[in-house]
Amino acid sequence: MLRAHQQRAFDHLIVVVPGELWPAIDVSLHADLRACVTGHLVLDLERASPEEITRVVAPVIEHAEHARERRLLRKLRDALGSGVLAIAGVDAVLNSLEQRRVGTLLVADGAQLAAGRCPRCGRVSGSREHHCSLDRSMLAPVDAVQYAIERAHRQRADVVVVSHESAELRQRGSIAALLRRRESSDHPIAQPIPSDGEQPDRRGAAIPVLRHPVTTR
Ligand SMILES: [Zn+2]
Repeated sequence: MLRAHQQRAFDHLIVVVPGELWPAIDVSLHADLRACVTGHLVLDLERASPEEITRVVAPVIEHAEHARERRLLRKLRDALGSGVLAIAGVDAVLNSLEQRRVGTLLVADGAQLAAGRCPRCGRVSGSREHHCSLDRSMLAPVDAVQYAIERAHRQRADVVVVSHESAELRQRGSIAALLRRRESSDHPIAQPIPSDGEQPDRRGAAIPVLRHPVTTR
């Protein structure tokens, strides 16, 4: 199970155990797996069908996702209130992605937001700008949500599509981000920054795996 988690990280791990086996399983779990345990259920599902298992597990996941969204939105509200480490709205999010400062990207489920991509330098700006601020080229329309999600993934940011508690996020422009501290030393990309492939001026420094040492010419 650990190998599967390392290949593709689990969002949730729910342990279903018959009887009172949970404490024994809990202590034997690898720390990485324990960190993603969403809950455990005392049930005997050894002979259950996949449909029965899904029916039992789905409410646990839904409850956890509600709680996670509430926790993130509270964090966003507090950070926006104090004016640091969070931004909201498509223009601010695009700017923060360009500066590689997004730690967690929050997008309201189903949000449709427009932006414009410069055909010359590749810069993506908010839809209200019609020309690139760097070279005055005419911007071509792009799907801002898809672009922001892809770019956040490439920067190893968390991406959360808020589907249960989205009303507040919609009021803030349907997209927002919790930011990384600039001076953070615990984040591998806070120091010399490898390109995420979108910045022509940094292509010489492209390193696909962020944890590796960065080499530049
Ligand atoms: Zn441009």
